[in-house]
Amino acid sequence: MAEMSVRYTYRVRPSRTAEGLLLAEWNRDRWVWNECVARSRALRLAGEMCGPARLDKDLTQARQANQWLRDGSSVAQQQTIRDFGAARTKAIKDIQKRLAMRQRRGFPVLKKKALAHPSMNYTRRGFSLQDGQLHLAGGIVLSVVWSRGLPSDPTSVRVSRDAAERWWASFVVKVDSEPLLETGRVIGIDWGVTEIATTTDSEFDLAHPQHGKTAAAKLARYQRMMARRRPPKGKPASKGYQTAKRQAAEVYGQVARRRTDHARKWAKGVVRAHDQIAVEDFKPKFLANSTMARKAADGAIGQAKRELIWMAAKHERDLRLVDPAYTTMDCGDCGARAKHRLLLSERTYTCSACSVVKPRDKNSAQVMINRAGFLPAGVDRIRLDSPTETRAA
Ligand SMILES: [Zn+2]
Repeated sequence: MAEMSVRYTYRVRPSRTAEGLLLAEWNRDRWVWNECVARSRALRLAGEMCGPARLDKDLTQARQANQWLRDGSSVAQQQTIRDFGAARTKAIKDIQKRLAMRQRRGFPVLKKKALAHPSMNYTRRGFSLQDGQLHLAGGIVLSVVWSRGLPSDPTSVRVSRDAAERWWASFVVKVDSEPLLETGRVIGIDWGVTEIATTTDSEFDLAHPQHGKTAAAKLARYQRMMARRRPPKGKPASKGYQTAKRQAAEVYGQVARRRTDHARKWAKGVVRAHDQIAVEDFKPKFLANSTMARKAADGAIGQAKRELIWMAAKHERDLRLVDPAYTTMDCGDCGARAKHRLLLSERTYTCSACSVVKPRDKNSAQVMINRAGFLPAGVDRIRLDSPTETRAA
């Protein structure tokens, strides 16, 4: 058994006082974050190092100089610097991977008051649980809706407010993995637009959930309401506009929760039935000019992939991510590579070497297994165990 970190998230219902304190804390943390962004930019331009130690020192000075900053918790403010440092390190690593130094995508940016959702992280030093309530540094006490128990002592908590203006507390806890019985089965998974996942095991193909469609009508109504009430530039938004905006965010939330549920159940089924899982390492591009259908598909794929990776880790299955380059050109049966790329409209793969004819996505799913280095032993074993073979013997 291995130990792993998971998030347990609960709804928080802060009192009016507590919410005021949270927002004040958030405003100070946001200021610290924006200072980090501005300072690291300035120091980088001056050719100087800008590590967390330097930013910590600057924070100490700023707290000495400003009473309003001193009113806030130093733990939360220091944590903001840690979070900034982590976000920056991740962006630098990503850039090194992409080897595209001109694109500074993913770098921490300024958090604007009207756009950024409040979100604060507290490590063990900055929070405690007493009598079922969450106590944060700075004397903030919150009532948590304990929809389920925490499996162990949390190591950190993130308190945040979503677009529908609901507060959440998300605890990081350590849990033990739960190994499952071996099944001797292998699966290959290819992601797509028409089906979220096409697999070598048709039982586990994943269609697009239809939840979106029923919610789409409601969403369109709120969006029309928002359009009618949109404030002129520079003018504050009206009550009606804000209400429509919150209602739209609630519908989004419902769709997202149902989609998560759908993806999680699918991932659990896949992981329960297979020891070895070969998955296309899909990376969404989120291009500005891509269609809404493409964007929705990318979102659904990203989520299904995350759930699958997490579920495989939880149950100690062998999951391997496969580079998707040329997967539509390679033959899953004999390994030959076609000379030309298949057009997106061509739904059938025909191999010129071994003359196999297969649905395009099924072929790609098979290529995943081969690329992952999984021997098709599991597939053979199933054939041997099948009723026809047993009768023959
Ligand atoms: Zn072939």
